[in-house]
Amino acid sequence: MAEKKNAAKELKEKLFLQRKNGYHRLSDKEIAASDKFAEKYKSFLDKAKTEREAAIEAIKTAEAAGFVEYKKGMKLKAGDKIYRNNRGKAVLLAVIGKAPIEEGVRLCAAHIDSPRLDLKQNPLYEDNELALFKTHYYGGIKKYQWTTIPLALHGVIVKADGTTVTVAIGEDESDPVFCVTDLLPHLATEQMTRTATKLIRGEDLNLLIGSRPFKDDEASESVKLAIMNILFEKYGITEADFISSELEAVPAFKAKDVGFDRSMIGGYGHDDRCCSYPALMATVDCKKPKHTVVTVLTDKEETGSDGNTGLCSAYLKYFIADIAEDLGSNGRDVLSASECLSADVNAAFDPTYPDVNERNNCAYVNKGVCITKYTGARGKSGTSDASAEFAGRIRRLMDSKNVIWQTGELGKVDAGGGGTVAAYIANLNVDTIDMGVPVLSMHAPYEIISKIDLYSAYRAFTVFMAD
Ligand code: MN
Ligand code: MN
Repeated sequence: MAEKKNAAKELKEKLFLQRKNGYHRLSDKEIAASDKFAEKYKSFLDKAKTEREAAIEAIKTAEAAGFVEYKKGMKLKAGDKIYRNNRGKAVLLAVIGKAPIEEGVRLCAAHIDSPRLDLKQNPLYEDNELALFKTHYYGGIKKYQWTTIPLALHGVIVKADGTTVTVAIGEDESDPVFCVTDLLPHLATEQMTRTATKLIRGEDLNLLIGSRPFKDDEASESVKLAIMNILFEKYGITEADFISSELEAVPAFKAKDVGFDRSMIGGYGHDDRCCSYPALMATVDCKKPKHTVVTVLTDKEETGSDGNTGLCSAYLKYFIADIAEDLGSNGRDVLSASECLSADVNAAFDPTYPDVNERNNCAYVNKGVCITKYTGARGKSGTSDASAEFAGRIRRLMDSKNVIWQTGELGKVDAGGGGTVAAYIANLNVDTIDMGVPVLSMHAPYEIISKIDLYSAYRAFTVFMAD
């Protein structure tokens, strides 16, 4: 009997899809490496809460690793490390490979924008002697999650004279923070009868910013005046300068370990910094690759990738064309031979909300980086759907280098859905597949990921770039 049982076990191992927890597959050394990687990642999260800050950090990291700003017409050769800064909100990095560029590039695409509350262009007002900022939320949020949490304000203001002021307030221990208020339960009888989409309305997301009136002033709007006076003294701005500003209210929390075992990380903006950071680090750690490596850290994914810093624009295509020309080729041929990992997060199975997932086809915490063949909604609408051949190639590559990976799609067929930049890159005639870290509470002010999944993403991008 015992022999028979073992035979079944062996046969199962051979024939069934293995979905083992990564902790049962990784060595102690690899787990230690993932813990170490998580420390660097947490500090990146704290420093890079907006696309502009992530772009600055990425360029700093790249320059420290020997990357230089790309100028069209540079005499490029194997081993050269270059970057292009797209308007301070998106970054392209490349490491020139040994193989002819016509053999294609290994492209890794992740985004550095995250859901948040943007200030409107005429944001400041006073109501009943309280000063507030009007906001317009950016990306898909559950609005009620953004009330009664400390928020910091990040961004830039371009003044009337054309000079730019950088704002980052709410991150230092001594800084004040801002807050969207909510009704007390005692008086929320009517509010609590509304559906969740209307529980907090878009126009209720007003940021409380002050209450102390301007001294010795009998005029109206003296609280607004006092706030404007503080802003004038601190930044030299007047109210009209908000028109040419980009100010983003983001959670003021720092990234922290989650759990007694410290196996997870809680923080703002894992989507998609838990993919963009590993992609950045894999690129800067990449030494003399066979194929040219191109990594794009893009903006505007959360609003649909439109605009000149989003991946629906031509900026990626132009960059590839420019380096192709410098190497005596052309962008069209290079793109057509290229392969891309669209590095974006997926939803992790949450035991508290099991109903939205189909258990055989969803991502789990600690089972490694998630490969997603297609995204989309309502019958795969909006997906690029990687070919079986390309999925097979990536799967073989990951297995050959012992990368911990799993497969999963975003929720049940009719539960909703979503997309990534994969389709826009695939539309350039590039073989593209989604690969990223599973996230709990995605798009919430505080999201959670696993440390070994994060590290698996770094390993996956590294082996792809080296191949
Ligand atoms: Mn994303
Ligand atoms: Mn997202």
